[in-house]
Amino acid sequence: MEKMKEKENLTPMMRQYWEIKQKLPPDVLLLFRLGDFFELFLDDAKEGARILNLVLTQRQGVPMCGVPVENIEGYVSKLVKAGKRVALCDQMEQPKPGQLVKREIVRILSPGSNGYSSNLDPKEHQFCMSLYRWKKKFGIALMDITTGLFLSGQLENEKEIMELVNRYGPVEVILAEGAECSFIRQNEHGKELIEGISQECYVHRYFPWAFDLEEAKNFLMAHFKVSSLDGYGLREMDAAICAAGALLRYFSEVLHQSISHIVTILQLSNSEVLWLDSIAQKTLEVIQANSKSGKSLFHAIDKTLTPGGGRLLRRWLSEPSRCLPVIQERQQAIALWINQQQKREQLREILKKIGDLERLLSKVSQGYVNPRELLSLKESLQRLPLITELLSSIQDEKLRAMAQDISIEKDMVAELDKALEENPPFSIKEGGIIKKGYCEQLDELRELSEQGQKLLIDFEQQEREKTGIKTLKIKYNQVFGYLIEISHAQAKSVPSYYERRQTLANVERFITRELKEIEQKILGSKNRANELEQELFSKLREKISLRIPVLQKTVDVINKLDVFSSLASLAQEKRYCRPSMVDEPIIEIEEGRHPIVEQCLPSEDFVPNSTFLGPDSRILILTGPNMAGKSTYIRQVALICLLAHTGSFVPAKRAKIGLLDRIFTRIGSSDDLSMGQSTFLVEMNETANILHNATERSLVILDEVGRGTSTFDGLSLAWAIVEDLYKTNKSLTLFATHYHELAKLADFYPEIKNYSMAVVETTENVVFLRKVVQGSMNKSYGIQVAKLAGIPERVIEKAKKILSLMESDKKKKTVPKKLKEESESPSLFPHLFDQKE
Ligand code: ADP
Repeated sequence: MEKMKEKENLTPMMRQYWEIKQKLPPDVLLLFRLGDFFELFLDDAKEGARILNLVLTQRQGVPMCGVPVENIEGYVSKLVKAGKRVALCDQMEQPKPGQLVKREIVRILSPGSNGYSSNLDPKEHQFCMSLYRWKKKFGIALMDITTGLFLSGQLENEKEIMELVNRYGPVEVILAEGAECSFIRQNEHGKELIEGISQECYVHRYFPWAFDLEEAKNFLMAHFKVSSLDGYGLREMDAAICAAGALLRYFSEVLHQSISHIVTILQLSNSEVLWLDSIAQKTLEVIQANSKSGKSLFHAIDKTLTPGGGRLLRRWLSEPSRCLPVIQERQQAIALWINQQQKREQLREILKKIGDLERLLSKVSQGYVNPRELLSLKESLQRLPLITELLSSIQDEKLRAMAQDISIEKDMVAELDKALEENPPFSIKEGGIIKKGYCEQLDELRELSEQGQKLLIDFEQQEREKTGIKTLKIKYNQVFGYLIEISHAQAKSVPSYYERRQTLANVERFITRELKEIEQKILGSKNRANELEQELFSKLREKISLRIPVLQKTVDVINKLDVFSSLASLAQEKRYCRPSMVDEPIIEIEEGRHPIVEQCLPSEDFVPNSTFLGPDSRILILTGPNMAGKSTYIRQVALICLLAHTGSFVPAKRAKIGLLDRIFTRIGSSDDLSMGQSTFLVEMNETANILHNATERSLVILDEVGRGTSTFDGLSLAWAIVEDLYKTNKSLTLFATHYHELAKLADFYPEIKNYSMAVVETTENVVFLRKVVQGSMNKSYGIQVAKLAGIPERVIEKAKKILSLMESDKKKKTVPKKLKEESESPSLFPHLFDQKE
């Protein structure tokens, strides 16, 4: 950049570029509109060319590269995905010869603010998050600018923040300059990233003063036009206010984005949420499956028909409620739609045709909605009266109230109907957007242009007659405009007022003054008509913009209706029951099923199992061989509890679920070697977290804890952990284990119960019944399972022999000599054999 500054003889355009570039944060790439291209210059060009794989060119020694305007969406998305912030600097007026075009930054796109739709999953939010530490609290705010969702709250420590980061999966985090944060790392390009989460999440720094309490509060109050933030639940939530105010300001002032569609802040409250830490989220596969071929809980239960409904369901799964009235209200709504099957189907037919209202409105507010999208908005809005009609036809107070919150927008729909063509183009530049009859002036201009066309035909005829050249034709060319085309042979006899413009292989081309006058009429009126169409389109957009606050309420209702009716369909289709929710530590599930596994098996193949946890049976020890279904069973209990807290019905015959504060899991041996931690250390880390934090109201799911070390170590640890959960945490616990010795715990503590997975042993095989039965199992069936898994018969036979030998002489501390003789290559396992023998 310095090199450029030194250059005295900068062109006016490069001076303009430089002035704009200087106002941007240094890391922001400036895409500068030059006619049909957005150009990058200097260092930006080098970086852009690297990321976009473009050829770097030079103009007067300045490196540059460009991307065509019509494909800008894809290029910007690629840059943003690489963690870049990109400023779009557009031409604000039609270029005039010899004059410098006015250019301005229209907006800056960053990972958390890229509203270009091709980059977005319709049923996923795109969050930008801000964090601020204020008086020992951590303020946090989340914004999805593409839908207008704005959340804020405060937390106690950094660990909770990480859990929230995992829950919401932001793609960008805003921190105050100089603020320290323990979970940041730098990548090879020196960019800051949030560590320990699955997706890339870039950190951007912002002025510390923007996080200042007074500044933040004033900014929020001015935006929402209120004199206090108490109405948003932010009383005494100073840290939350700091984070929210700075984030909203960041969008408006740094990213130049419209925030007029942000009409409220919702509270992020820990106390009202059933907390699943990141490990539980992951092991239970709540939102994302752990393998590509797997299914998450979200995908298993999602039957929503609108993107907004899908996003809301996802949020409910990420933040299940602990508030009895909230859960019961949702249950009631689902029950209602189960009973109203016919109306529900009608509702769902209507919902199918409603697009992504939230994202369309956000685009209207941001000013980059295209004519096709406005048409789709109109078509969605046209369906609203059908919904209110349907809701009003059902005798229910709540539905009536919902119907009243739907704004029909009759005038707007009528205007859009009158204004918009039935099949408008994507671009607003080329006309063809506005219907005939909407604007008199536009109709006149179009008529003029059409008349011009007729004049052209008459002119052609007239010139043929005048010159006697029957093959004379009028042609159009980008450079010369309209031309008279005559073959070489006949060109000699043209009148003297014909001016030659072009000579081609077979023809000559001429113009006349009269032809140019007609051209002026045609092109002039066409250009003016296009400009007027753009203006009319912008006005329409502005009118809709003013309705956004009212429409946001409508969108909320539509989203909820979608979620309720889809959960009702799910419940009916998959035979889910309405759980009774109580305020005591109890989990009673009769014939429960695993919501994901049951969908992956042929119908009726899943074996339901019951669960009873409560004051008399706080801990269940579940024994059984591998593959018997232990993990499935304990996860199923956690998933049913989670679903119950979202308000959904659950896969069971009957269920009574007490309100829980947290669900903890320690399942399988998640290997974190990539992060430099051994499997066993990870296992113990996660278990320590459970022992420190689980309460009487927590559900703890432990699968094979202790497996990561030697048998006696593992067994001793498992024993001590269960005992501590029993005595100290008093949590409701399911412990799946192959240590049958743990069954003895039930002899000491009456609230610990033994269960096992039933198997039937035949002479050759074992058959898993997938049934949970009382009592423990003292056999592992490892060899039988290995056989089922396809281990070669010779290996199975050898293992059986070794096992019987070992069992025949259990009391001896050493492996008998016979066994040594059995082995064909004992030297491979010297440690197995007593050297003294
Ligand atoms: P374990 O934890 O005992 O090794 P899993 O829970 O992983 O066993 O179950 C092994 C397989 O058994 C699962 O992949 C699933 O397909 C099947 N399975 C588990 N529980 C059931 C059930 N209740 N009904 C039918 N199949 C089941």
